[in-house]
Amino acid sequence: MAKKKLLVIGGGAAGFFCAINAAQMNANLEVLLVEKSSKLLSKVKVSGGGRCNVTHSCFSIAEMIKKYPRGHHFLKKAFHHFFTTDTISWFADRGVILKTESDGRMFPTTDNSQTIVDCLMQQVNKFGVQIMLNREVLELLQQDNQWKINFKSDGTLIVDFVCIASGGYPKAIQFEWLKNMGHTIEAPAPSLFTFNMPGNTINSLMGITVENAAVKIIGTKLQENGPLLITHWGMSGPCILKLSAWGAKSLAACNYNFSIMVNWLPDFNEQTLKERFQQIRFEHAAQKIINRNPAALPHRLWQYLLQQSGINENLRWAHLPAKDQNKLIKNCCAQEFKVSGKTTFKEEFVTAGGVSLDEVDYNTMQSKIKPNLYFAGEVLDIDGVTGGFNFQNAWTTGFIAAKAIAGI
Ligand SMILES: Cc1cc2nc3c(=O)[nH]c(=O)nc-3n(C[C@H](O)[C@H](O)[C@H](O)COP(=O)(O)OP(=O)(O)OC[C@H]3O[C@@H](n4cnc5c(N)ncnc54)[C@H](O)[C@@H]3O)c2cc1C
Repeated sequence: MAKKKLLVIGGGAAGFFCAINAAQMNANLEVLLVEKSSKLLSKVKVSGGGRCNVTHSCFSIAEMIKKYPRGHHFLKKAFHHFFTTDTISWFADRGVILKTESDGRMFPTTDNSQTIVDCLMQQVNKFGVQIMLNREVLELLQQDNQWKINFKSDGTLIVDFVCIASGGYPKAIQFEWLKNMGHTIEAPAPSLFTFNMPGNTINSLMGITVENAAVKIIGTKLQENGPLLITHWGMSGPCILKLSAWGAKSLAACNYNFSIMVNWLPDFNEQTLKERFQQIRFEHAAQKIINRNPAALPHRLWQYLLQQSGINENLRWAHLPAKDQNKLIKNCCAQEFKVSGKTTFKEEFVTAGGVSLDEVDYNTMQSKIKPNLYFAGEVLDIDGVTGGFNFQNAWTTGFIAAKAIAGI
């Protein structure tokens, strides 16, 4: 019997996972993988600051899906087929042990993304996946029950199944070849970026991390808590990155010009902080304000907040005028900053948007519009916050597509 052919488009995490698993599961399948650039697994290589944050140590689907601003309903079903536990075992079965860091991120014990690249490369070789570099797919045409593939360079290919794992494209026009096949594309927008605050005095505190701040985007319901890092251009850190992910679409719509409100002491609101201040005034009346910080705020930040409130840091608590105290409370709990522009977070960034999930079957990753056409990875309208969630999407969807194709 003639072998059926599968063409995987894209040599990234999702494409490799689909190609390897399909080839392993069905020896009667001839698996080809095409990559438009001259490099394979380039994002895996640079990911996680060169360490590759493979997945997240989260073993509850209900908890896991909360980390995906787009695609959580779809993944809720898909994770039943292949979850974090499966990723950990898949790599362990191939000799790659993952370790967990205190924030839940999982990395190879070698702390080197090359370990993951090597593992995936060994597997494509082991199962005979044929790889073609510098081959960009321009068009897919249906021909009877098969697909005719047109490349940018010369040549065509006829295959039985196609899995598109072409990743996220920053520009809508780059999705045109998928649109031409009848698929709806959710407009792309970058996700996981930091906030620019040009000229703001807060930038002078660059390098300071506040362990837990609450940041709200004014005029929206978007609010996040977590570590916040002050940089020389504005704000970064997990709290800001989470906001950028949840706000990816709305912040793109306002061209990254918006205002935020920061509560530097999220355990307090204006009322409870006032009570805390009264207590300090009573218990430490003679102490200088600069030396008695209401919570463990970094000293330079406390100094900055006093300056912003027009308070002489050598003033004693007992002498703090009520008007100045109110200003300080406002600056601690609800300080406003103007954001104009964004900066890509170098450790990890993704594109929100992509192939609409309404047109893809979560049990198989097959297109609901065209038969024998599958999708995997970031090309789908799925993206997660930082922490290994984006790779987990690539492994899960790549595996499901492989299983469905191999089973036919
Ligand atoms: C710097 C950086 C660090 C990151 N770190 C992490 C991390 O530590 N953990 C995490 O979970 N996520 C991380 N991410 C996100 C993660 O890398 C991506 O979500 C994931 O790689 C997506 O995999 P993919 O296979 O869907 O797409 P990609 O990795 O983008 O692969 C798609 C491939 O398809 C090729 N291609 C596109 N169009 C065509 C075409 N028409 N014909 C042929 N080939 C084509 C592209 O050249 C590309 O090689 C990071 C991202 C970046 C940019």
